[in-house]
Amino acid sequence: MKTQAYTGNGNFGIFGGRYVPKVLEKSLNEVEKAFKHFNNDPEFLKELQSLQKDYVGRSNPLTYAKNLSEALGGARIYLKREDLNHTGAHKINNCIGQVLLAKRMGKTRIIAETGAGQHGVATATVCALFGLSCTIYMGSEDMERQRLNVFRMELLGAEVVPATLGRKTLKDAVDAALNDYIQYSESTYYLLGSAVGPHPYPLMVRTFQSIIGEEARAQMLEKVGRLPDYLVACVGGGSNAIGMFHPFYEDSSVKIIGVEPAGKGLDTGEHAASLTLGKKGLIHGFKCYTLQDENGDPLPVHSIAAGLDYPGVGPEHCAYKDSGRATYESVTDEEALDAFLTLSKSEGIIPALESAHAVAYAIKQAPKLSKDKIILVNLSGRGDKDVQQVQKMLV
Ligand SMILES: *Cc1c(COP(=O)(O)O)cnc(C)c1O
Repeated sequence: MKTQAYTGNGNFGIFGGRYVPKVLEKSLNEVEKAFKHFNNDPEFLKELQSLQKDYVGRSNPLTYAKNLSEALGGARIYLKREDLNHTGAHKINNCIGQVLLAKRMGKTRIIAETGAGQHGVATATVCALFGLSCTIYMGSEDMERQRLNVFRMELLGAEVVPATLGRKTLKDAVDAALNDYIQYSESTYYLLGSAVGPHPYPLMVRTFQSIIGEEARAQMLEKVGRLPDYLVACVGGGSNAIGMFHPFYEDSSVKIIGVEPAGKGLDTGEHAASLTLGKKGLIHGFKCYTLQDENGDPLPVHSIAAGLDYPGVGPEHCAYKDSGRATYESVTDEEALDAFLTLSKSEGIIPALESAHAVAYAIKQAPKLSKDKIILVNLSGRGDKDVQQVQKMLV
């Protein structure tokens, strides 16, 4: 079995690293030092654990999707229920960890970027809990698509600043947040929402999200008596997926599959399948597979799910892909929408459109597999935020 993908100094194989202006170098060193220290500090870990339990509501259940599995007539599908966390998705796992770190570092102001609005809501939530000033950057196009989440953030006391450059989506929100961070890094902590960005973010976010896979692995062994045959998770920046995958890395019998958004089709140019079609390049201070033009500028991306709409991907997934430890597939908008409707009707669970990509892949694969096989799907979030968008698409 191969050793872990992380090879030190912020590198995952040839991916990751830290490619930032000098002014950011100092701030990121500070974050790295604090993370290394507190991630081994029993007091810090105790506080984190108690918040995960009493505030987030962990551990969340592992649910057997019985109706869906029986209707498909093949492999049994299990769902890891990140949708049941406080604020409705996995994002809070990472926010709680990072906000505790920011507090220990003496920072008084938190900034973050958001795509679907889920990370913004999770960040605004933990800032309210800890009484910290909170500024969220969001593409103005995404603000339009996710109006309710904008209002939610404002209710929680955050200021939402529209990013109006470029395509006005997640990539542009990250650019705006990085500019803010460069200017105010003395007082400010940048709470990055996915397993992307310069070191130490990919390693730190994976660490805080690994609770997903740790719980799921223990729950599988306890409930079913064995590990799953397949792990499936959707991949935007890659945080819910790497949090699920990492604790299974050494389990060579478990096949790992990340599902990217194929949007309107891989041949249409309107997708966000960075691992499937991207080239090795730099984006937002790290090396990964990225969708870019010949000048190295990020290409416009599209997905039905705002949270998957990013032209890069976490460096650890890039290393998993190159080593063959995981494979990356893609699912179209239409297939994701079908899965959204199917899971709602069959199990009484409305998934986030992001998570519906992972569900769609499981729905395609299950009938091809025998009934003794198990597919474990990470249900990264609930779909309440998406019902208005879906309603509009169905008329
Ligand atoms: C943000 C989001 C994602 C995508 O982000 P990752 O970092 O790839 O996990 C997936 N699912 C939900 C519900 C989200 O809110």
